[in-house]
Amino acid sequence: MKTITILVPCYNEEAVLKKFYDRVQSVIEKISDYEFAYLFINDGSNDQTLEIMRQLHKLDKHVHYLALSRNFGKEIAMIAGLDRVESDAVVIMDADLQDPPELLPEMIDWWQKGYKDVCAKRRSRDGESWFKKWSSHTYYKLLQRLTNVPIQIDVGDFRLLDRQCIEALKLFRESQRYTKGMFSWIGFDKKEILFDRDARAAGQTKWNYWKLLNLAIEGITSFSMAPLRIASFLGCILSITSMIYMLIVIFKTIIFGEDVKGYPSLVSIILFIGGAQIFFLGIIGEYLGRIFNESKQRPLYLVKEFDGEIVIKQNLR
Ligand code: UDP
Ligand code: MG
Repeated sequence: MKTITILVPCYNEEAVLKKFYDRVQSVIEKISDYEFAYLFINDGSNDQTLEIMRQLHKLDKHVHYLALSRNFGKEIAMIAGLDRVESDAVVIMDADLQDPPELLPEMIDWWQKGYKDVCAKRRSRDGESWFKKWSSHTYYKLLQRLTNVPIQIDVGDFRLLDRQCIEALKLFRESQRYTKGMFSWIGFDKKEILFDRDARAAGQTKWNYWKLLNLAIEGITSFSMAPLRIASFLGCILSITSMIYMLIVIFKTIIFGEDVKGYPSLVSIILFIGGAQIFFLGIIGEYLGRIFNESKQRPLYLVKEFDGEIVIKQNLR
């Protein structure tokens, strides 16, 4: 019998976790031929989330849980889970029931037909402001232009991954993770199925615009060197135009004599070039920061507790 693990990163999800379990349970009870297990990742919640996981683990021997030593973020929580999954496939799901478990049978169907990565693509984005829709659309168009990897649009982390993909993803040990890009990067046979994303069942979203902006920059800097290239090109253009302008000024001075006016143009040029320099330095800094972070080679996460056992020696790769 093939095994499937449902991997659920959780951060302060006490309000929905029980509901989540019940609803998934009602779906998988109808699916025979497969053995299911749960792997909940407690991403350093400061509410009763871990306690609920412990209870579920006691109740159902298919429920496993892993508690990280603090909040590391969803991207890290996911790799922590993938590192420990032993089944033939994994389905990554949000705890807040925004990813409907009713999609599981269809996903498994496609997996059986040979697809290695069955992803759920949002048909609609109800309940989101036009600004969020517009900004995310523009961002993905931009990201797509900047990188050679085909980025999937409106596809999140809700997907079924075959063992082959899991093993591939486990090779990615970068600490600043942009998992969405990694799913695209690894390739393998992908199948997108459409679904309507519901609103959060209860509790609060952990995202705000500041975090989203940071994630957006993460996406670009981890999958593309284009900003550096663009900076070089713009720098080139800037120096050529400066050179031309310089020649014009010298020429004018020689022919028409010294001209003391020109303070406004001088100031604008200095400010413009100064701004451009700082901007380009910022871009270089982004990449430098990444190098700094990755070169430390720190473990991606630390585990506090696994299925009721206190973890002392970290079993990391
Ligand atoms: N999550 C996590 N660590 C975090 C933030 C979020 O594990 O630091 C989990 C969260 O519990 C949920 C999933 O990631 O299961 C998606 O989070 P959320 O619903 O806040 O994001 P949204 O659906 O609004 O994009
Ligand atoms: Mg959500």
